[in-house]
Amino acid sequence: MIDHTIFENKIAAYYTLGCKLNFAETSTIGKALANHGIRKVRPGEKADICVINTCSVTELADKKCRQAIRRIGKQHPGAFIVVTGCYAQLKPEEVSHIEGVDLVLGTEQKLDIFLYLDNLKKKEETGVVISSSSKDIRRFSPSCSTDDRTRHFLKVQDGCDYYCSYCTIPFARGRSRNGSIDSLVQQARDVAEKGGKEIVLTGVNIGDFGKTTDESFIDLLRALDEVEGIERYRISSIEPNLITDEAIDFVAASKRFAPHFHIPLQSGSDGVLQLMRRRYDTALFRHKIEKIKSVIPHAFIGVDVIVGTRGETEELFEEARCFIDSLDISQLHVFSYSERPGTQALKIENPVDPKSKQMRSQQLLDISEKKLQAFYASHRGRQAVVLFEHTRRGNLMHGFTENYIKVQAPYDSSWVNEVRSIQLGDWNEDKTALVIKD
Ligand code: SF4
Repeated sequence: MIDHTIFENKIAAYYTLGCKLNFAETSTIGKALANHGIRKVRPGEKADICVINTCSVTELADKKCRQAIRRIGKQHPGAFIVVTGCYAQLKPEEVSHIEGVDLVLGTEQKLDIFLYLDNLKKKEETGVVISSSSKDIRRFSPSCSTDDRTRHFLKVQDGCDYYCSYCTIPFARGRSRNGSIDSLVQQARDVAEKGGKEIVLTGVNIGDFGKTTDESFIDLLRALDEVEGIERYRISSIEPNLITDEAIDFVAASKRFAPHFHIPLQSGSDGVLQLMRRRYDTALFRHKIEKIKSVIPHAFIGVDVIVGTRGETEELFEEARCFIDSLDISQLHVFSYSERPGTQALKIENPVDPKSKQMRSQQLLDISEKKLQAFYASHRGRQAVVLFEHTRRGNLMHGFTENYIKVQAPYDSSWVNEVRSIQLGDWNEDKTALVIKD
């Protein structure tokens, strides 16, 4: 039985590691606690409750979570510390041994966090409580992060049924499932009503949308496109085999869906793609890029790649590098392969040594830089529509064009969360954005 009076005047701090989906879900957890009178910590205050929503995508992510948990414990001495998210789901025992942790919640349990707070009894009284038993995760929790005044992350889908050989996400987040189109349209309307201008559709495998509601991704795009008040949607990472030509044509014709794609390739070698158990080959990937560029020549295309997967020999990497270099894309997101317990990839022979991984990573980062520079350069002097963000850095502010070019401008509070038509100029000083042409 929960004694609700114990939560009166309590303050909670929230920390999120990892993907946008986690950010959206932390926002939902925050709303749940706020409904019980627990307000969010203000700068400089000590919190009574700390909620840490973790990531476990690589070994490095686990390490960062451990560091963050210890740091947060020190920042808020005596606070009740809750750890949830993928790391908590996959390694609850390990998490329970980290200094300061009182409660470990798995993927399903985090949706009902309030049921587990147990009157905020610290571990000294009860021992660390672990609740992350469910392996068959099927619940879908609607989530939309509203912390950022310009960009909102709307969770449209969760989980994954693909089981790529290197990935633990299906174990951490469960089966593919989604919200209904009606419920997502309603959330988009709510964002618009509160003055939100941009929504990013997020999920683990969003192209798989519709499995649990018997709907389709393209119908979701069509329905969201009708929501008045939203200036822009961005589609976050979508598997190449699931982004249909119909969806690409729809984005090309839509006024609201931005010409911005994020597509994981992972390797440019068919042999490595097979080892990874990906569901496409390089020919299909090239077709998707060419299709996008043929109907939306100015589209920004970001591509994820992993280097140093087990079995990626020098020859296979070279084949991958040449393929990637030949693609008309805008930027690469380069990751180093990380050994994850319980994955099929561990059965593949020929692990790649750390030095080779580092060298391969650098080669792809160089290609990425070259492509990004070329993409930005091809836009200098062009008219563009920019949505400016609220963050102020000195006397400067930033925003993004529809096709994801970062733009820098002198700070002007009347431009925050506003869409402006400007002419793109040259690089800024540190070459991270284009300035506005005088
Ligand atoms: S598609 Fe593959 S890499 Fe992506 S979440 Fe699913 S299993 Fe992991």
